[in-house]
Amino acid sequence: MSLPEPLIPKSLGDALKAKAGKNVVAIAGGTDILVKLHDRFDDPQPKLLILDHLKAIHKIAITKKEVTIGPLVTFSEIEKSDILKAHASQLTEAASLAGSTQIRNRATIGGNLANGSPAGDLISPLYVLGASLELSSSKSKRIVPIEEFFIGPGKTVLKSNELITAIKIPKLNNHGFFLRLATRRALAISKVSVAASLIIENKKIESIKIALGAVAPTVIRATRTEELLLGKALSPQVIADAASIIKEEARPIDDIRSNALYRKEMVGVLLKRGLEGILNG
Ligand SMILES: Cc1cc2nc3c(=O)[nH]c(=O)nc-3n(C[C@H](O)[C@H](O)[C@H](O)COP(=O)(O)OP(=O)(O)OC[C@H]3O[C@@H](n4cnc5c(N)ncnc54)[C@H](O)[C@@H]3O)c2cc1C
Repeated sequence: MSLPEPLIPKSLGDALKAKAGKNVVAIAGGTDILVKLHDRFDDPQPKLLILDHLKAIHKIAITKKEVTIGPLVTFSEIEKSDILKAHASQLTEAASLAGSTQIRNRATIGGNLANGSPAGDLISPLYVLGASLELSSSKSKRIVPIEEFFIGPGKTVLKSNELITAIKIPKLNNHGFFLRLATRRALAISKVSVAASLIIENKKIESIKIALGAVAPTVIRATRTEELLLGKALSPQVIADAASIIKEEARPIDDIRSNALYRKEMVGVLLKRGLEGILNG
Protein backbone atom coordinates (compact mmCIF):
# COMPACT_ATOMS: atom_id res chain seq x y z
CA MET A 1 0.00 0.00 0.00
CA SER A 2 1.57 3.34 -0.98
CA LEU A 3 1.26 6.63 0.88
CA PRO A 4 -0.72 9.54 -0.65
CA GLU A 5 1.28 12.51 -2.02
CA PRO A 6 2.81 14.39 0.97
CA LEU A 7 1.74 17.92 1.87
CA ILE A 8 4.65 20.39 1.67
CA PRO A 9 3.48 23.72 3.11
CA LYS A 10 5.37 26.92 2.22
CA SER A 11 4.79 28.62 5.59
CA LEU A 12 3.83 27.81 9.18
CA GLY A 13 0.38 29.30 8.49
CA ASP A 14 -0.11 26.88 5.57
CA ALA A 15 1.13 24.00 7.73
CA LEU A 16 -1.42 24.80 10.45
CA LYS A 17 -4.22 25.00 7.86
CA ALA A 18 -3.17 21.66 6.43
CA LYS A 19 -3.03 20.09 9.93
CA ALA A 20 -6.76 20.85 10.31
CA GLY A 21 -7.41 18.28 7.55
CA LYS A 22 -8.44 14.66 8.15
CA ASN A 23 -5.83 11.96 8.74
CA VAL A 24 -2.83 14.31 8.43
CA VAL A 25 0.36 13.25 10.24
CA ALA A 26 3.21 15.74 10.79
CA ILE A 27 6.73 14.61 10.03
CA ALA A 28 9.77 16.51 11.31
CA GLY A 29 12.98 14.42 11.38
CA GLY A 30 11.03 11.21 10.71
CA THR A 31 13.10 9.07 13.12
CA ASP A 32 10.05 7.95 15.12
CA ILE A 33 7.13 8.32 12.73
CA LEU A 34 8.70 6.52 9.78
CA VAL A 35 9.38 3.49 11.99
CA LYS A 36 5.74 3.56 13.17
CA LEU A 37 4.24 4.05 9.67
CA HIS A 38 6.29 1.14 8.41
CA ASP A 39 4.16 -1.13 10.62
CA ARG A 40 0.80 0.53 9.78
CA PHE A 41 -1.52 -0.82 7.18
CA ASP A 42 -4.52 1.51 7.70
CA ASP A 43 -6.68 2.27 4.74
CA PRO A 44 -6.69 5.10 3.83
CA GLN A 45 -3.04 5.75 4.73
CA PRO A 46 -2.33 9.09 6.44
CA LYS A 47 -1.19 12.14 4.51
CA LEU A 48 2.29 13.21 5.60
CA LEU A 49 2.71 16.90 6.41
CA ILE A 50 6.37 17.68 5.88
CA LEU A 51 7.67 20.33 8.29
CA ASP A 52 11.44 20.20 8.09
CA HIS A 53 11.92 23.19 5.75
CA LEU A 54 9.87 25.64 7.88
CA LYS A 55 12.58 28.08 9.01
CA ALA A 56 10.20 30.10 11.26
CA ILE A 57 10.10 27.20 13.74
CA HIS A 58 13.71 26.10 13.33
CA LYS A 59 15.67 28.51 15.53
CA ILE A 60 16.81 29.23 19.10
CA ALA A 61 16.18 32.75 20.44
CA ILE A 62 16.87 34.47 23.75
CA THR A 63 15.28 37.47 25.49
CA LYS A 64 15.84 38.97 28.96
CA LYS A 65 13.45 36.47 30.54
CA GLU A 66 13.39 33.31 28.45
CA VAL A 67 14.90 31.06 25.83
CA THR A 68 12.65 29.94 22.95
CA ILE A 69 13.44 26.77 21.01
CA GLY A 70 11.67 26.04 17.73
CA PRO A 71 10.27 22.48 17.51
CA LEU A 72 12.37 21.72 14.42
CA VAL A 73 15.66 22.34 16.24
CA THR A 74 17.62 19.08 16.07
CA PHE A 75 19.46 17.26 18.85
CA SER A 76 22.78 18.19 17.15
CA GLU A 77 21.84 21.88 17.12
CA ILE A 78 20.82 21.72 20.80
CA GLU A 79 24.10 20.00 21.70
CA LYS A 80 26.12 22.78 20.01
CA SER A 81 24.05 25.82 21.05
CA ASP A 82 25.99 28.30 23.23
CA ILE A 83 22.69 29.81 24.44
CA LEU A 84 21.49 26.40 25.65
CA LYS A 85 24.89 25.46 27.11
CA ALA A 86 24.64 28.61 29.24
CA HIS A 87 20.97 28.35 30.27
CA ALA A 88 19.94 24.71 29.87
CA SER A 89 23.01 22.50 30.27
CA GLN A 90 20.78 19.52 31.20
CA LEU A 91 19.21 19.74 27.75
CA THR A 92 22.50 20.00 25.84
CA GLU A 93 23.85 17.06 27.83
CA ALA A 94 20.74 14.94 27.07
CA ALA A 95 20.89 15.81 23.36
CA SER A 96 24.57 14.83 23.19
CA LEU A 97 23.93 11.38 24.70
CA ALA A 98 20.99 10.34 22.50
CA GLY A 99 20.99 8.07 19.44
CA SER A 100 23.96 8.35 17.08
CA THR A 101 25.36 11.20 15.00
CA GLN A 102 22.95 10.36 12.16
CA ILE A 103 19.92 10.26 14.50
CA ARG A 104 20.97 13.47 16.30
CA ASN A 105 21.25 15.26 12.94
CA ARG A 106 17.62 14.37 12.05
CA ALA A 107 15.76 14.02 15.38
CA THR A 108 13.99 17.17 16.57
CA ILE A 109 12.91 18.42 19.99
CA GLY A 110 9.29 18.78 18.76
CA GLY A 111 9.26 15.15 17.61
CA ASN A 112 10.71 13.98 20.94
CA LEU A 113 7.88 15.74 22.79
CA ALA A 114 4.99 14.84 20.47
CA ASN A 115 6.06 11.20 20.36
CA GLY A 116 5.28 11.13 24.09
CA SER A 117 7.61 8.32 25.16
CA PRO A 118 8.53 8.37 28.88
CA ALA A 119 12.04 7.46 27.69
CA GLY A 120 12.36 10.55 25.43
CA ASP A 121 15.66 12.02 26.59
CA LEU A 122 14.82 15.72 26.18
CA ILE A 123 11.70 15.54 28.34
CA SER A 124 13.12 15.25 31.87
CA PRO A 125 15.51 18.21 31.31
CA LEU A 126 12.53 20.29 30.13
CA TYR A 127 10.59 19.31 33.30
CA VAL A 128 13.34 20.55 35.61
CA LEU A 129 13.85 23.71 33.57
CA GLY A 130 10.14 24.57 33.98
CA ALA A 131 9.48 24.62 30.22
CA SER A 132 6.13 25.39 28.62
CA LEU A 133 4.96 24.48 25.16
CA GLU A 134 3.19 26.67 22.61
CA LEU A 135 0.53 24.60 20.81
CA SER A 136 -1.00 26.24 17.74
CA SER A 137 -3.86 25.51 15.38
CA SER A 138 -4.89 27.64 12.41
CA LYS A 139 -7.43 29.33 14.71
CA SER A 140 -5.79 29.63 18.14
CA LYS A 141 -2.69 29.32 20.26
CA ARG A 142 -2.32 28.02 23.84
CA ILE A 143 0.55 27.65 26.28
CA VAL A 144 0.76 24.37 28.21
CA PRO A 145 3.22 23.72 31.07
CA ILE A 146 5.27 20.66 30.16
CA GLU A 147 4.04 18.71 33.18
CA GLU A 148 0.47 18.97 31.82
CA PHE A 149 1.39 17.93 28.28
CA PHE A 150 1.82 14.17 28.79
CA ILE A 151 -1.12 11.98 29.83
CA GLY A 152 0.30 8.47 29.35
CA PRO A 153 2.84 6.52 27.33
CA GLY A 154 2.62 7.89 23.77
CA LYS A 155 -0.31 10.13 24.77
CA THR A 156 -0.33 13.92 25.01
CA VAL A 157 -2.90 16.74 25.12
CA LEU A 158 -1.95 17.80 21.56
CA LYS A 159 -5.13 17.98 19.44
CA SER A 160 -5.23 16.56 15.92
CA ASN A 161 -5.38 20.08 14.41
CA GLU A 162 -2.42 21.40 16.45
CA LEU A 163 1.35 21.56 16.10
CA ILE A 164 3.95 22.33 18.75
CA THR A 165 5.23 25.70 17.56
CA ALA A 166 7.63 26.70 20.38
CA ILE A 167 9.26 25.44 23.57
CA LYS A 168 9.89 28.18 26.15
CA ILE A 169 12.33 27.96 29.06
CA PRO A 170 12.59 30.65 31.76
CA LYS A 171 16.16 31.93 32.23
CA LEU A 172 17.48 30.55 35.54
CA ASN A 173 20.94 30.66 36.99
CA ASN A 174 20.87 26.97 37.85
CA HIS A 175 23.28 24.10 38.45
CA GLY A 176 22.11 20.89 36.92
CA PHE A 177 22.74 17.55 35.33
CA PHE A 178 21.23 14.91 33.09
CA LEU A 179 22.42 11.32 33.45
CA ARG A 180 21.09 8.22 31.74
CA LEU A 181 21.70 4.50 31.50
CA ALA A 182 21.12 2.52 28.33
CA THR A 183 22.26 -0.88 27.10
CA ARG A 184 24.96 0.74 24.96
CA ARG A 185 26.48 4.22 24.79
CA ALA A 186 25.05 4.78 21.28
CA LEU A 187 21.82 3.84 19.51
CA ALA A 188 19.99 2.63 22.58
CA ILE A 189 16.90 4.08 24.27
CA SER A 190 17.29 5.02 27.97
CA LYS A 191 16.41 2.41 30.62
CA VAL A 192 16.44 5.15 33.22
CA SER A 193 17.37 8.83 33.28
CA VAL A 194 17.61 11.52 35.95
CA ALA A 195 17.62 15.29 35.36
CA ALA A 196 17.98 17.96 38.02
CA SER A 197 18.07 21.72 38.33
CA LEU A 198 19.28 23.38 41.56
CA ILE A 199 19.66 26.97 42.68
CA ILE A 200 22.23 27.14 45.49
CA GLU A 201 22.73 30.28 47.59
CA ASN A 202 25.17 30.54 50.51
CA LYS A 203 25.79 26.79 50.05
CA LYS A 204 22.08 25.98 50.71
CA ILE A 205 19.69 24.55 48.13
CA GLU A 206 17.18 27.39 47.61
CA SER A 207 15.25 25.63 44.86
CA ILE A 208 15.37 22.16 43.32
CA LYS A 209 13.57 20.14 40.67
CA ILE A 210 14.34 16.50 39.90
CA ALA A 211 12.69 14.52 37.07
CA LEU A 212 12.91 10.82 36.24
CA GLY A 213 12.65 9.31 32.76
CA ALA A 214 11.67 5.75 31.76
CA VAL A 215 10.56 4.74 35.27
CA ALA A 216 6.81 5.54 35.08
CA PRO A 217 4.11 5.90 32.38
CA THR A 218 5.27 9.50 31.84
CA VAL A 219 8.33 11.42 33.02
CA ILE A 220 7.72 12.23 36.73
CA ARG A 221 9.02 14.69 39.32
CA ALA A 222 10.70 13.21 42.42
CA THR A 223 8.90 15.56 44.82
CA ARG A 224 9.69 13.75 48.11
CA THR A 225 13.39 13.80 47.28
CA GLU A 226 13.13 17.48 46.33
CA GLU A 227 11.50 18.23 49.73
CA LEU A 228 14.26 16.34 51.56
CA LEU A 229 16.98 18.36 49.80
CA LEU A 230 15.35 21.80 49.93
CA GLY A 231 17.10 24.17 52.35
CA LYS A 232 19.99 21.75 53.00
CA ALA A 233 23.66 22.06 52.11
CA LEU A 234 24.94 19.20 49.97
CA SER A 235 27.06 16.72 51.96
CA PRO A 236 27.86 13.01 51.52
CA GLN A 237 25.20 12.13 54.15
CA VAL A 238 22.48 14.33 52.59
CA ILE A 239 23.25 12.84 49.17
CA ALA A 240 23.07 9.27 50.55
CA ASP A 241 19.66 10.01 52.17
CA ALA A 242 18.32 11.51 48.91
CA ALA A 243 19.60 8.54 46.85
CA SER A 244 17.79 6.17 49.19
CA ILE A 245 14.43 8.02 49.08
CA ILE A 246 14.36 8.57 45.34
CA LYS A 247 14.31 4.80 44.68
CA GLU A 248 10.87 4.68 46.30
CA GLU A 249 9.55 7.42 44.02
CA ALA A 250 10.24 5.53 40.80
CA ARG A 251 7.38 3.32 39.54
CA PRO A 252 9.17 1.30 36.85
CA ILE A 253 7.98 -1.78 35.00
CA ASP A 254 9.82 -4.82 33.67
CA ASP A 255 10.16 -4.60 29.88
CA ILE A 256 12.48 -5.64 27.07
CA ARG A 257 15.02 -2.97 28.00
CA SER A 258 15.35 -3.65 31.74
CA ASN A 259 13.61 -4.79 34.91
CA ALA A 260 11.91 -2.76 37.62
CA LEU A 261 14.31 -3.65 40.45
CA TYR A 262 17.40 -2.62 38.48
CA ARG A 263 15.75 0.62 37.35
CA LYS A 264 14.87 1.58 40.96
CA GLU A 265 18.45 0.93 42.11
CA MET A 266 19.91 2.89 39.20
CA VAL A 267 17.73 5.96 39.87
CA GLY A 268 19.51 6.21 43.25
CA VAL A 269 22.93 5.65 41.70
CA LEU A 270 22.41 8.32 39.03
CA LEU A 271 21.11 10.91 41.53
CA LYS A 272 24.10 10.27 43.81
CA ARG A 273 26.50 10.62 40.87
CA GLY A 274 24.89 13.88 39.72
CA LEU A 275 24.75 15.50 43.18
CA GLU A 276 28.34 14.45 43.95
CA GLY A 277 29.38 16.14 40.69
CA ILE A 278 27.82 19.41 41.92
CA LEU A 279 29.28 19.02 45.46
CA ASN A 280 32.76 18.49 44.03
CA GLY A 281 32.41 21.47 41.68
C1 LIG B 1 17.96 4.30 16.01
C2 LIG B 1 17.21 5.26 16.89
C3 LIG B 1 17.78 5.69 18.08
C4 LIG B 1 17.10 6.59 18.91
N1 LIG B 1 17.69 6.98 20.07
C5 LIG B 1 17.03 7.85 20.87
C6 LIG B 1 17.62 8.29 22.10
O1 LIG B 1 18.73 7.91 22.48
N2 LIG B 1 16.91 9.17 22.86
C7 LIG B 1 15.67 9.63 22.49
O2 LIG B 1 15.08 10.43 23.23
N3 LIG B 1 15.10 9.22 21.34
C8 LIG B 1 15.74 8.35 20.54
N4 LIG B 1 15.15 7.93 19.37
C9 LIG B 1 13.80 8.37 19.06
C10 LIG B 1 13.69 9.61 18.15
O3 LIG B 1 14.88 9.84 17.43
C11 LIG B 1 13.34 10.87 18.97
O4 LIG B 1 12.15 10.69 19.70
C12 LIG B 1 13.22 12.12 18.09
O5 LIG B 1 13.29 13.26 18.90
C13 LIG B 1 11.96 12.19 17.23
O6 LIG B 1 12.04 13.40 16.51
P1 LIG B 1 11.71 13.45 14.95
O7 LIG B 1 11.91 14.84 14.49
O8 LIG B 1 12.45 12.41 14.20
O9 LIG B 1 10.16 13.09 15.01
P2 LIG B 1 9.20 12.48 13.88
O10 LIG B 1 9.50 11.03 13.71
O11 LIG B 1 9.23 13.33 12.65
O12 LIG B 1 7.81 12.67 14.62
C14 LIG B 1 7.53 12.02 15.84
C15 LIG B 1 6.10 12.35 16.27
O13 LIG B 1 6.01 13.73 16.56
C16 LIG B 1 5.03 14.37 15.73
N5 LIG B 1 5.58 15.72 15.49
C17 LIG B 1 6.82 16.03 15.04
N6 LIG B 1 6.99 17.38 15.08
C18 LIG B 1 5.83 17.92 15.55
C19 LIG B 1 5.39 19.24 15.86
N7 LIG B 1 6.16 20.34 15.68
N8 LIG B 1 4.14 19.40 16.35
C20 LIG B 1 3.32 18.34 16.58
N9 LIG B 1 3.69 17.05 16.31
C21 LIG B 1 4.94 16.85 15.83
C22 LIG B 1 4.89 13.47 14.53
O14 LIG B 1 3.63 13.61 13.92
C23 LIG B 1 5.08 12.11 15.17
O15 LIG B 1 3.88 11.69 15.76
C24 LIG B 1 15.82 7.06 18.51
C25 LIG B 1 15.25 6.64 17.30
C26 LIG B 1 15.93 5.76 16.49
C27 LIG B 1 15.32 5.34 15.17
